[in-house]
Amino acid sequence: MSDYITFTIEEKKDIALIAHDNEKPKLIDWCKENYNILKHHNLYGTGTTARMIADQTGLRIKAYNSGPLGGDQQIGAKIVEGVIDFVIFFSDPLTAQPHDPDVKALMRIAQVYDIPMAINKATADFMVQSRLMDEKYDHEVINFRKTIQERAKML
Ligand code: PGA
Repeated sequence: MSDYITFTIEEKKDIALIAHDNEKPKLIDWCKENYNILKHHNLYGTGTTARMIADQTGLRIKAYNSGPLGGDQQIGAKIVEGVIDFVIFFSDPLTAQPHDPDVKALMRIAQVYDIPMAINKATADFMVQSRLMDEKYDHEVINFRKTIQERAKML
């Protein structure tokens, strides 16, 4: 069994949009600027962010729980299930967050699954301007089935 599995990010991306409170106005403006790109993809977000995006931009977006109430963890779980494959997270580097462990967990799981993830506007701009936005993208993710099989034998 191979060490890696090929996952495909399709032309139509499944994009999570999240912003901490101080960054929400910036993310809303960014969504307005990039409306014509975002409208071609499936959008998801943490509760308050998703509501504000829907109300202020007209984009269709599925809302999970609010971030501090588990929304970041729900988005992490959707990455694990292969439902979400692209994350734009305007996180606040200057304010302590009650759900900091959840934020770190989301970043970690995005790394594990080799998911494109922007944590600021410049990265988000480079990501959505990339030619890969309109293409399928194959990437290699660690083969957990093999890992589990080996661990179950070894431990
Ligand atoms: P919110 O959560 O969109 O519900 O505010 C975002 C966050 O703080 O992670």
